[in-house]
Amino acid sequence: MKEYNSVKPMPESTLSIEEVVPLNDGQVGLAVLGSPIKHSISPQLHNAAIVELASRLPSFSNWVYHKVEVDAQSLASALPHLAQCGYRGLNLTIPHKVEVFSMIDSIDKEARNIGAVNTLWNNGSEWLGFNSDGYGLERALVNHFNISLSSASILILGAGGAARAAAAQSLSRGCERIWIGNRSSGRLQNMMQALGESFDLDCMVPFEISMIPREILEKESVVIINATSLGLSREDSSPISLKGFPKSAKVYDMIYNPAETPLLKEAKSMGMVCENGLSMLVYQAVRSLEIWTQEKISAEAMFAAARTAL
Ligand code: NDP
Repeated sequence: MKEYNSVKPMPESTLSIEEVVPLNDGQVGLAVLGSPIKHSISPQLHNAAIVELASRLPSFSNWVYHKVEVDAQSLASALPHLAQCGYRGLNLTIPHKVEVFSMIDSIDKEARNIGAVNTLWNNGSEWLGFNSDGYGLERALVNHFNISLSSASILILGAGGAARAAAAQSLSRGCERIWIGNRSSGRLQNMMQALGESFDLDCMVPFEISMIPREILEKESVVIINATSLGLSREDSSPISLKGFPKSAKVYDMIYNPAETPLLKEAKSMGMVCENGLSMLVYQAVRSLEIWTQEKISAEAMFAAARTAL
């Protein structure tokens, strides 16, 4: 595998939407929009991959990726403004992934199934919506655990947007079984209802997160995915205890900062194979850039930039 140097990234400043002005002739703009957006490392990831791509295909040397603070009220007016200024590809994060549905004409099937859009492409006349989170998770699981979703037994913790991406991707691949645990039953029911519009849910078992069904503990090689936000704060506890799970269980925590959550710490201490969410972040970014450029994108360049940025 080719090694990429972790060069110190350029300072990635945050633009307000008022500071977004027409790009120079020939430049192609990409950006991540959200609020708050200051913490996002997407510009470092994408700009590193664009540099690598331009070294192979010089026509991409005039592509740039920015981050723009856009609040919920401003998204509808920001989209035409960005298109006019020469921006062709956008990533969306909190609070835009669901609200954008009413602002765009075309949304691909994957994004509909997930119920959220994190990638937009402007085809010259309209914005088209996609979601790369499910792809990012699947590629991360294949890479780290060498598992195929089509035959996996999966325990998903959480019922927010990230959990729904995990469930929709697993269902679309025909996985064997999904147990899904959440704290609030209302949110879990809403998610089951929404997924039921696209998928047969016979293989899915919802439960209250503190009451792990016994049958999961008896399952060899279950893949446990933390899609709750528990672990983001250094004071957080683990969403579940891993006591009673077989050592063959594999644990993927979507959180990547901090790099080791209490759940991952416990998994490690029990000798389980485990990984944090950096790879999902990188692979979803790879997918977005592939949608925009229609070219093969280097995940290694993005990993190197991510490690430096974090
Ligand atoms: P949401 O806010 O939509 O969902 C949060 C989930 O966490 C809910 O299920 C919520 O349960 C649960 N939760 C929050 N606090 C607690 C608690 N104290 N105890 C038990 N459950 C709790 O967030 P997202 O789905 O967007 O993101 C979830 C996580 O995934 C975040 O940490 C995010 O950073 C990460 N993520 C990582 C990505 C990557 O590329 N690596 C991509 C996307 C997300 P309840 O319904 O009961 O409130």
